[in-house]
Amino acid sequence: MPDGSGGAPPRAVIFLGPPGAGKGTQAKAVAGRFGLAHISTGDMFRDHMSRNTPLGEQAKKFVQSGGLVPDEVVLGMVGDRISQPDCKNGFVLDGFPRTKPQAEALAETLRNRPWGKPLVIYFAVDSDQLLRRLTGRRTCKVGGEIYNVYDCPPKVPGRCDNDGGELFQRPDDREEVIRERLSQYEAQTRPLVDYYQGAGSLAEVNAMGPQAEVTGRVLEVMARPR
Ligand code: ADP
Ligand code: ADP
Repeated sequence: MPDGSGGAPPRAVIFLGPPGAGKGTQAKAVAGRFGLAHISTGDMFRDHMSRNTPLGEQAKKFVQSGGLVPDEVVLGMVGDRISQPDCKNGFVLDGFPRTKPQAEALAETLRNRPWGKPLVIYFAVDSDQLLRRLTGRRTCKVGGEIYNVYDCPPKVPGRCDNDGGELFQRPDDREEVIRERLSQYEAQTRPLVDYYQGAGSLAEVNAMGPQAEVTGRVLEVMARPR
């Protein structure tokens, strides 16, 4: 199948886990293999902010301070995004939902659509790894590829292996903002682990160890029969 879906029924997959767990890295590695769109709400906000759109203006102060963008803003943006044609076969949600109201709104949206009950993959990482992953993160300005100066460095420092693009450090990956993001995660997002466990749709993946090994674990969960 040219779309990579192998003719599988459409589906919604949620990557849940703390900032720096490796959700974006793994979504880039696996979404296309199943013909799924990769939807990163963080990337969408950064894109809006860089273009100074009204949505970017609304999101800016929250993103910069490490807070969460208000639910109604996020929900409008995600609702529009999943109506796009590339979401026909389904999608991997990376960084959404992050609050209980977002999870409930998503459940309501999915109820009457072809994607069915979501598969939620929870990325389990030791907390002392997160700081290393977040402070070492560098992203390509051109294609968005994700590197880490400690654990996954590019071949040429500061340059993307794929397209030679310049690598940059996200302003919210500074330590004081990271602290706020981690505390928002604990307060608002971690409760979703129980929420989805209760709904019977949670699969935990050990997100420690080399990227390729984590990819293997994620693929194994996604390939399980529904
Ligand atoms: P990370 O992957 O490091 O956790 P993201 O790129 O997902 O970070 O998100 C960056 C910022 O964008 C968040 O700190 C928050 O301000 C905003 N954001 C992204 N997704 C959401 C969401 N679902 N709800 C509220 N805010 C969000
Ligand atoms: P998230 O989207 O969950 O915030 P990212 O995918 O952006 O996380 O990864 C955060 C940082 O951790 C990046 O610098 C990335 O290169 C690095 N990283 C991702 N997976 C691993 C891994 N398995 N081992 C070590 N570092 C990793």
